[in-house]
Amino acid sequence: MACLTVSAADEKRVKALGFLSNKGTDNFSGRIITVNGKITAAQNKCLSEAAELFGNGIVTFTTRLTIEVQGIPYDKIEDFRAYIAKEGLVTGGTGSKVRPIVSCKGTTCQYGSIDTFGLSEEIHEKFFNGYSDVKLPHKFKIAVGGCPNNCVKPDLNDLGIVGQMIPNYDEDLCSGCKKCSVENSCPINVANVVDGVLKIDKDKCNNCGRCIGKCHFDAIEDGKVGYKIYLGGMWGKRVAHGKALSKIFTSQEEVMEAVEKVILLYREQGKTGERFAQTIARLGFDNVDAQILSNDLLDRKKEILEAQLHLEGGATC
Ligand code: SF4
Ligand code: SF4
Ligand code: SF4
Repeated sequence: MACLTVSAADEKRVKALGFLSNKGTDNFSGRIITVNGKITAAQNKCLSEAAELFGNGIVTFTTRLTIEVQGIPYDKIEDFRAYIAKEGLVTGGTGSKVRPIVSCKGTTCQYGSIDTFGLSEEIHEKFFNGYSDVKLPHKFKIAVGGCPNNCVKPDLNDLGIVGQMIPNYDEDLCSGCKKCSVENSCPINVANVVDGVLKIDKDKCNNCGRCIGKCHFDAIEDGKVGYKIYLGGMWGKRVAHGKALSKIFTSQEEVMEAVEKVILLYREQGKTGERFAQTIARLGFDNVDAQILSNDLLDRKKEILEAQLHLEGGATC
């Protein structure tokens, strides 16, 4: 339902700034970017004040960790933006480009294997801010999760990162106890004593790391941090589960490079209006996997970014 008096052109203009029409009115919800779902008490206070001063006093939380202040009249939009800017807050998060990053609380969570807040902040800086003018075929959603519990459902995003803690198991130290404390600690039962020795099914192990330190004979003393990257997930009008790249990455730098290659690939090889899952289905996952593991896309970065592509992308929200 369109606005009452605000023109369609103005509605479109403010939508690009992160202001979504409250249907059938001349008011808008301002979408505030939280970086990764983490704001300071001062920012929280500022938003509450802004909601009372410019909106209808209601603050809502979106499923992708942004915050919306409802009921802002069209002619108060700029005042609202200036007010929240005092605390470093900005609006946005719409269009055919990298969308606000979603992160779980892996940095502080007892199960977290990676610094999810640190990684998602870096991705926000480089690809939400840094790539804000880079037009893509459709929206592109990224989520960072700290462990295979998948609280933020990374594999239902265009690109999802899942923290890993790969157990360092030394079979030679296993003495095949009658009651194996490692077997008992594995939440998905993929570690089992077979013929007097513990076997971990590597194809099924999700690298949660819960077995580390559980063996009294130090057969699994430590583990290695890793990052699994899923591509091509989506959850909406169409649903697709992302598929993991064949390599588990072992440093944040490698992950940042891989994320950049994925975005470049989608920009270059995706058709306008196509979600990344469809691009992957058309190109073939093995082809995409091979391109992400090589350096060709980064070598052609300038050319890919300068191409006139997706001038009108497929995203409608
Ligand atoms: S995905 Fe893992 S690390 Fe993240 S909040 Fe859930 S349990 Fe914690
Ligand atoms: S892994 Fe450790 S606890 Fe399990 S059977 Fe081997 S030695 Fe015993
Ligand atoms: S890392 Fe997790 S899934 Fe793998 S064997 Fe250990 S406890 Fe089981």
